[in-house]
Amino acid sequence: MAEPYDVIIIGAGPGGYIAAIRAAQLGLKTAIVEREHMGGVCLNWGCIPTKALLRTAEIYGLMQRAKEFGLATGKLGIDAAGIVKRSRAVSGQLSNGVSFLMKKNKIDVIWGEATITRAGEVTVSKTDKEPMQPQQPVPKGVLPEGVYKAQNIIVATGARPRVLPGIEPDGERIWTYFEAMVPDEIPKSVLVMGSGAIGIEFASFYRSMGAEVTVVELLDQILPLEDAEIAAIAHKRFEKRGIRLLTGATVTKIDRTRTGVAAHVKSEGRPDQKLTAHKLISAVGVVGNTENLGLDKLGVKTERGIVAVDGFGATNVAGVWAIGDVAGPPMLAHKAEHEAVIAVEKIAGVAGVQPIDKAKIPACTYCDPQIASVGLTEAAAARDGRKVKVGRFPFLGNGKAIALGEPEGLVKTIFDANTGALIGAHLVGAEVTELIGAFVVAMNLETTEAELMETVFPHPTLSEMLKESVLDAYGRVLNI
Ligand code: FAD
Repeated sequence: MAEPYDVIIIGAGPGGYIAAIRAAQLGLKTAIVEREHMGGVCLNWGCIPTKALLRTAEIYGLMQRAKEFGLATGKLGIDAAGIVKRSRAVSGQLSNGVSFLMKKNKIDVIWGEATITRAGEVTVSKTDKEPMQPQQPVPKGVLPEGVYKAQNIIVATGARPRVLPGIEPDGERIWTYFEAMVPDEIPKSVLVMGSGAIGIEFASFYRSMGAEVTVVELLDQILPLEDAEIAAIAHKRFEKRGIRLLTGATVTKIDRTRTGVAAHVKSEGRPDQKLTAHKLISAVGVVGNTENLGLDKLGVKTERGIVAVDGFGATNVAGVWAIGDVAGPPMLAHKAEHEAVIAVEKIAGVAGVQPIDKAKIPACTYCDPQIASVGLTEAAAARDGRKVKVGRFPFLGNGKAIALGEPEGLVKTIFDANTGALIGAHLVGAEVTELIGAFVVAMNLETTEAELMETVFPHPTLSEMLKESVLDAYGRVLNI
């Protein structure tokens, strides 16, 4: 039996591998167990490969607008294999990068399926899970299956697609994000179920690639977690791009047809309809990977498919921790990473560790147009009974946006009217996923409107709109 570890982490996604690095930095003897791919869903089948696909879509969109910028192009074309090849190569590079970081930080990587067999004991065996294809090669120098001991075990096993009964993915006509990321060819038509970030990103990508796209959303707003005004702007832009959006609608049944699927759709106030498409992408959320980990036997509390934790990632069982998607929403990589650092610092006894503040976690959707937000929506602030001041600045008033040929979008800021604290920021338009970071910093520093108004932003940049939106909230907007 190997020497006991201070920490064993199960799962090498952004939660797990960041936990491992921080643990090693703090001098803890650390091992990480992975069964399929270093970097988890994020680097292999989530955040990163989708952004590579969306970059292709963005470039293709700009090429189609070449004339507007005084350029001439030949006939444009799409090479699905080439698009997928680049996306997989980007994933591969980053997944290898995680293996390198493990080696650099002297972290043992154990290859196989982990189960917590008793307190402080992890048994690693051969996995039964069919790997998604194409799979990254197993990293060199990994430790074999066996029984390993640790003072602390961090569960970072992530999540998988939620499957609705009767709409089980078959890899052919009904896809999850796995198949949607590696198409052999661009389907002529796509029906997307669910308009959260994953559904909308695929809708945007396939529309850019020329597919007819319909999105069916159960709630009465696309991007249901976003501010209603921002979602409405995005809705209009998507429709202008030719994406059909059905809100307040449910897919009640799917027939598999010779060429694809026929979906029976029920929507309030409208007659039932049958929509046909070559592919259906089911993007109705994810569920935590809590099974076969031995959590029940150990008495670790789980609630509706996620592990129950406190603000530091501690479960109800001493020495067992959980972080990332398996520890609940928001199921985002940067939340997983932050939880990783908090949990490990708590284990190591670092002084002054603060619990996670989910109110300050940004959310981004990298479609066209992009959407980014942090903090309360206007509706949530009203529900909380807060008196607010709201600022708005449209892209049309910004020189850089016009020069870029991106005049559509909005920066919206929400302040507490009593204290001047920035409590929400909501953006739609070009590059807003890069802009939101400034507001996240501002919120973390508990910045008020006065400090933001005294900040000098570089000209010409899209970031000037952040300040203008703040000025607008206080009746001092300049460029509109
Ligand atoms: P994961 O990344 O899922 O990693 C868990 C790891 O645990 C996996 O590698 C798995 O193989 C391993 N594992 C599971 N069980 C065991 C076991 N028993 N033994 C050994 N190993 C095990 N988030 C963002 O912030 N931004 C985005 O743009 C974004 N885009 C996304 C796009 C898509 C299509 C998808 C699906 C997700 C996206 N996400 C995005 C979400 C993001 O991928 C997740 O929030 C993130 O991967 C969670 O990290 P994690 O470490 O908790 O889990």
